[in-house]
Amino acid sequence: MMIATVMSGLLALVLALLKRSYPPSIKGLEEWSLGLLLMCGGGLLGLLGREQPPLIGVALANLLVNLGVYAAYVGTQRFLAQKPRLVPWLLLIAAVAAVSLWYTVVEPNYTMRLRISNGYMALQFLIHAVLVMRHATSSFARSLGIATLISLVGIQGMRFTATFTSPSVASPRDASPEHLIYLTGMAVCVLLFAIGAVLGASDRLRIEVERLAARDPVTRLLNRRYLDESARKELERCRRHGYPLSLLMMDLDHFKSVNDTHGHLAGDEVLAGFAHSTHQQLRMEDHLGRFGGEEFVAILPETIPEDAYRIAERIRRSCLARDDNPKCSVSIGVSSYPRHGETLEDLLRQADRALYTAKSRGRNRVELA
Ligand code: GH3
Ligand code: MG
Ligand code: MG
Repeated sequence: MMIATVMSGLLALVLALLKRSYPPSIKGLEEWSLGLLLMCGGGLLGLLGREQPPLIGVALANLLVNLGVYAAYVGTQRFLAQKPRLVPWLLLIAAVAAVSLWYTVVEPNYTMRLRISNGYMALQFLIHAVLVMRHATSSFARSLGIATLISLVGIQGMRFTATFTSPSVASPRDASPEHLIYLTGMAVCVLLFAIGAVLGASDRLRIEVERLAARDPVTRLLNRRYLDESARKELERCRRHGYPLSLLMMDLDHFKSVNDTHGHLAGDEVLAGFAHSTHQQLRMEDHLGRFGGEEFVAILPETIPEDAYRIAERIRRSCLARDDNPKCSVSIGVSSYPRHGETLEDLLRQADRALYTAKSRGRNRVELA
């Protein structure tokens, strides 16, 4: 029990330190840390308070542990973007504390106390496990979390049943092997739960970093590096299967004057609006990215030049139809594999040339390479 207590305290510290260096978008670390801290506090009271009146050594210690277990559950809820429902749970915890208090002070009965506390914990861990099963995305952290929580349900359930079947349980100084398994199991599970939490949070951090690295912050489209990567992959795939692939090179018309007249922030909004309306014209399997300042590239796998031209026309019209201010039109150059080139560089060069033609022919138009 001492080991479990010390470990909870240390793990609470680890999670609190992680919280400081992780972005605020990763939620739940605080509550997990608080939960472990409360469990540590409850454990300390239980250990040191043996000689104290049972109100502190037993009732308060149990209350702290129950609050800690609940805080850990709230941490998982917040991590998985689920809304915690504090009032009913806190009422339930208060009711458990009140009944335990009754069996501690008014009508001392250790077996009843055990039943209430183990029964409540088993229920709490079960609901926690179901939460992780329903909402966590598949990962090692998820499996570890579920395995740990189910083990905790098992451990608490086993002890709950033992209060009915095994008389040795009914003593606070129980030294039976079952009790040893119970205490060791709890200590190991606390450790595994914290490891699962840390792994889950670092998975989240990795996904977040990848997302930030792949996206342009103004338009939320793929940035040039990731666009290049997906374009090469798609081209390879189409080459392998003998499919065509089309590329659209888009450049907003007289964009400098939008900036000059309305300011750079308004210019950024036009860029974001264009990205949004263009994205809506494309299919799920197309890739849209920001190539440079006000230049965008779309990769359309399995699309012949004539269809790509039609899609480009649709994009050009949707750009004009946007009802945000200031207005801006777009010129688009279209090139296709295999008709206009074999490599991505060929396609970009040909689309760029077509784009220049569109510009020189008066802008707000689409040209095929
Ligand atoms: P054209 O019709 O020939 O394409 O004219 P243009 O004014 O669009 O072309 P030009 O390339 O001369 O100007 C592009 C402008 O895009 C210049 C730059 O200030 C602006 N720009 C580039 N990146 C950003 C950005 O991230 N935000 C804003 N607001 N403006 C940008
Ligand atoms: Mg330009
Ligand atoms: Mg331009």
